Amino acid sequence: MTHSHGIAAPVDAPPLASSQAVHRQFRFDLLREDASTWARRGRIATSRGTIETPVFMPVGTQATVKTLHPDEVRATGAEIILANTYHLMLRPGVNILRDAGGLHRFMHWDGPILTDSGGFQVFSLSDQNTVTEHGVTFASHIDGSRWTMTPENVVELQLAFGSDIMMQLDHVLGLPAERAAIQDATERSSRWLERAIAALAEQQMAGSASVLFGIQQGGMEPDLRREHARRLAGMDVAGCAVGGLSVGEPKPVMHEMLEASTPYLPRERPRYLMGVGSPEDLWHGVARGIDMFDCVLPTRLARNAGMFTPDGRITISNASWRHEHRPVDETCDCRACTQFTAAYLHHLFRANEILGLRLASEHNLRFLARVMIDIRHAIEDGTFAGKAAAFLDRYRPVGGQAPAPLPSRSAASSREGDQE
Ligand SMILES: [Zn+2]
Repeated sequence: MTHSHGIAAPVDAPPLASSQAVHRQFRFDLLREDASTWARRGRIATSRGTIETPVFMPVGTQATVKTLHPDEVRATGAEIILANTYHLMLRPGVNILRDAGGLHRFMHWDGPILTDSGGFQVFSLSDQNTVTEHGVTFASHIDGSRWTMTPENVVELQLAFGSDIMMQLDHVLGLPAERAAIQDATERSSRWLERAIAALAEQQMAGSASVLFGIQQGGMEPDLRREHARRLAGMDVAGCAVGGLSVGEPKPVMHEMLEASTPYLPRERPRYLMGVGSPEDLWHGVARGIDMFDCVLPTRLARNAGMFTPDGRITISNASWRHEHRPVDETCDCRACTQFTAAYLHHLFRANEILGLRLASEHNLRFLARVMIDIRHAIEDGTFAGKAAAFLDRYRPVGGQAPAPLPSRSAASSREGDQE
């Protein structure tokens, strides 16, 4: 299998823009910008390795990318993975991770790890959560025990894990919500970010290379998104995340929210769209200026017999695959596609064999890694808009929606002009 590592540097010239944090142990270089969309080619350097952007980050919520050995995750081309503060705080608990020498050693992953703060999980998984200005108190979804997360202790936890990229605690609202409630949660998230920044300055020990990202919110209100993006742009963070999207809203609404967000985020810092990772959404997100993505979709789908192909998502357990003695995806270089047939994978799922879950997980992660390689090459070649249109024209999303249009820089700049 080929890896995404070692692809040629896209430009020899100095970067278009750069930013750094923790005494240059973290650095982002913006290497190229697409002329017709907002797509960006960049590179993040961390003390644990380099990440070529745009990047898709596999999710290992419980300190494991489900069903796969870390070597197998690495072999799909992954350069960074995610873990989750909420889950790891509840189980195994911060003391176990501290005694283990940190999360990397505990789970045998020596590359960069981004830890989500758990704000989303507190509000979506736990019962009886109560938000005050101090933080959020909630009952564990595992055993009902009471916990409190504050902007400060979420930083403390992530530092103890040894996270490379830490996320702030933010106030996540279930939608639909009243505009006033969205505005209130957005402003609280900003105040919590200020406290997280202060906590990091106070708690970070010499030699630690952990950096903090802020999270932009604003529900489905474009002006709140814009306002919060501007506010986040003025804060001392290493990167900016866009949160609260892909939560069930129609695709055109997500695209509109992105277009109301990324133009106001700093050009020289990485931008991370949280929880997004369907193949079509990756192209659309990159076209709107996003550099980093994560989602449980590829591995969760895989465990439910869903596999990505260039024509769309298939369900390998369906009877139609029983006699297909050819690879699931002829274009793919993963082990599922180069060593096995669709008929065999179909058989594994029908027989409830664990190897089926593993091979499908490996394939889906490799499929997204290859999408990101194609995206990076297209930005380097100046062919992004055409390649995106070709991919979206062929790939049929679930539900059979017509492909959404790509954004255009020229159309949008005149529109922004009206609003200023
Ligand atoms: Zn494959």
